[in-house]
Amino acid sequence: MKKNKLLKALAVIGASVLTIGMLAGCGSVASESTETPAATEGTAEQTETPVAEEGGQYIVMGTNAEFEPFEYRDGDNIVGFDVEIAKAIAAKTGKELKIEDMSFDTLIVGLNNEQMDFIAAGMSVTEERKTQVDFSEPYFKSKQMIIVKADDDSITSAEGLVGKKVGVQLGTTGDLFVSGTDGVEVVQFDKAPLAVMDLKNGKVDAVVIDAEPAKKLVEGQSDIKVLDVPFIEEEYAIAVKKGDAELLSTINEVIKELKENGEYDKIYGQFFDSAE
Ligand code: GLN
Repeated sequence: MKKNKLLKALAVIGASVLTIGMLAGCGSVASESTETPAATEGTAEQTETPVAEEGGQYIVMGTNAEFEPFEYRDGDNIVGFDVEIAKAIAAKTGKELKIEDMSFDTLIVGLNNEQMDFIAAGMSVTEERKTQVDFSEPYFKSKQMIIVKADDDSITSAEGLVGKKVGVQLGTTGDLFVSGTDGVEVVQFDKAPLAVMDLKNGKVDAVVIDAEPAKKLVEGQSDIKVLDVPFIEEEYAIAVKKGDAELLSTINEVIKELKENGEYDKIYGQFFDSAE
């Protein structure tokens, strides 16, 4: 019975269960510019970073820098695959790139409040999000994966999550899947690394997250593993405010150019195993 419901949830993912809008707007905003050191755990720090006005100096990328290799902190800097794409967008517009780092579930609200010009955050295109933002052409294919303890034989696929406690990052497609699946107890975290910490501590049984960050999160750790059973295919795109056609077409041009001139492959090689 439960299993049927789970399969049904798997089938309809991408449709009505993707209700990101309900999640947007809750949770605290930890916003900081790239110049400021990382906020200490649990503090919500808000800096005044004005969004570039027409002809202004900055173009602002909104992200959640807890998603290696797409965006993460290296010392005081935020780096990653998405940051490289954002740099190319900034170069195209002739502006300086500024990065607003905030919790993933507040990004769309932040964009619509003009705290940023675009979101580049490994954000998957969903029907629900399409009602709130305009998406660029997709620039990356992704999947949802499951991380479990290395010695756990009880979870071997998404169906095995029924009856388990599963950690997710708040407001992500992984969260929507787990929250929308009967019989699975969801535990939402602000940051994916905290979910993995609780998995290691035995406070959750599994973590559902995108494929590349999953690989990074288990790298060099013998007590946890990624199951080789991807279960939802998604595509990442950059989001702009609804109706911002000018920026959207610039972004689409940049994505096209990066793919055509070999830069995309170069950046890819910088952040991902070249075997893929
Ligand atoms: N791709 C997932 C989503 O869009 C997760 C993104 C993230 O955690 N940065 O929901």
